[in-house]
Amino acid sequence: MQFRPFDTLSEAFVRVRSRPPRTIYLILGLEGARYYVFFSQPDLGQLMNRLATQKVGINMEIEELKRLQPDDDHVLLPSQVAQRLAGFNANHNARRARTEGLTPHLLEQAQALGVQQDAGHAEMFMIESWRRCVDDFMMHRHRYPKRGEIFLSHTPCRTSDDQPSPAMLVDGRNYPTSCRAKLYTFFKANPGIRWKIWYELRFGSAEQLNDTELASDFPGIEIARMTPDVLHLI
Ligand SMILES: [Zn+2]
Repeated sequence: MQFRPFDTLSEAFVRVRSRPPRTIYLILGLEGARYYVFFSQPDLGQLMNRLATQKVGINMEIEELKRLQPDDDHVLLPSQVAQRLAGFNANHNARRARTEGLTPHLLEQAQALGVQQDAGHAEMFMIESWRRCVDDFMMHRHRYPKRGEIFLSHTPCRTSDDQPSPAMLVDGRNYPTSCRAKLYTFFKANPGIRWKIWYELRFGSAEQLNDTELASDFPGIEIARMTPDVLHLI
């Protein structure tokens, strides 16, 4: 279970920025007093594909170094490697084809080792950890929260997207396919709290909408792009 509480939004964003660029995150804020950070996690296949992409890239760089100086067997310093590879870009199609060849082998090895990957969208992890977040808030404030804000790197996935988050059961409640639908269910399950969603980017099929059209696709939910005073924390 993901559970990382912070006292301020700035601290929560520092945590977010410690991850690689383009990480999909969600920060849950309760009354501006406590913040909880969640990340989307790839499944094992996607993870092995990323590893394979990286390994193949390194291999192609080694091949390029060899091609530039076939008879040079000296150990190179990182600065020398960087200098020699300046301007080199691995051929995209070749890299992809080799990655596709390597991924199934890595996946097989990971499965043989019994590697378990807790995959899911950040919204799913927030919903799963909700009780713990409320307990933590109540320890600090000695009452139930009245206001919640959700800061998203990307707008919630919708059923029109390629791979919307799958349905799940939490505390006996069914959360349907897509994070959009899950958030409706989640807000309905917590009616005493006033909710607001802030996002940095529009996701997938929502990329073609403008901010107003996006908001009208979430009737009854307050959803808007992050304002400059929030964005400056990022
Ligand atoms: Zn999602």
